Amino acid sequence: MAIQPYHDRDGFIYMDGQLVPWRDAKVHYLTHALHYGTCVFEGERAYNGKIFKSKDHTQRLFRSAEIIRMDMSAFDADTINAAKEEVLKANNLTNAYIRVAAWRGSEQMGIDISKTVTHLAIAAWDWGKYFDPSVAEKGISLMTSPWVRPAPNMAPIHSKAASNYNMGCIAKSEATDKGFTDVLINDFEGNLAECSGANLFLVIDGAIHTPTADRFLNGITRQTVMQLAQDMGINVIERRIKPEELDHAQEVFVTGSAAEVTPIGRIDERHYDVGPITKKLMDAYSALVHG
Ligand code: PMP
Repeated sequence: MAIQPYHDRDGFIYMDGQLVPWRDAKVHYLTHALHYGTCVFEGERAYNGKIFKSKDHTQRLFRSAEIIRMDMSAFDADTINAAKEEVLKANNLTNAYIRVAAWRGSEQMGIDISKTVTHLAIAAWDWGKYFDPSVAEKGISLMTSPWVRPAPNMAPIHSKAASNYNMGCIAKSEATDKGFTDVLINDFEGNLAECSGANLFLVIDGAIHTPTADRFLNGITRQTVMQLAQDMGINVIERRIKPEELDHAQEVFVTGSAAEVTPIGRIDERHYDVGPITKKLMDAYSALVHG
């Protein structure tokens, strides 16, 4: 079945303060963000009509903008939070993926950003599971990418900035061409980092180990799942983790607003079962977001 292209759908998108018909939510060719990646965004989910951690996502949007020196003085968090609800309502959605983006417009071209104006849009749509459920049930597969996450002084890594995603798109495409679901990306020193759009966790002898999030996005789901695990009495350890340690892991999973808690069945030539701790956290996360 052909997928309806994203630009050609019914519904409404919030753009610069008002709801516009979905097909009219357009930007100009000379949009700064298109040429230089000067855009920050959020990916969120609503469950049963309630947006999970909506305020946290909006707060991160402002932080992401600040890191890339994007002026957000025309916006306030309450307005954005209310606008997200308005978009859900206008599109009759209760379970949905929500994409908020703020970007530099077409007021100015070139590297100089002093005169660009920040624009903001919100779209929402029905977006089931991020990974094919029939694959995710047994665990998705990851290929270690030859690409690595840049050092913190090489890119605005703590900003959810569009410019950070090109490498992930290339890396994921290389992996899917080889039959893998996604990529495992190491940091610039060869430690485990994360996936193209999700954070990584290893279960080793009953404890959860996760790479320290000072070299990639510290996901909201990552923080939520760490808290859930601690509440269950599971020891959670953040540290630098070498790829060889994947040999000693009994379970591996990833987290993200889109990916939720997804088990890993394979990393390169290593195979994993979907184990009890992953299952418990999948259930606990599902209960929390639906609660
Ligand atoms: N890392 C990257 C690169 C991502 O794109 C995402 C998804 N936003 C995550 C991690 C997970 O973040 P979150 O749990 O906040 O969605």
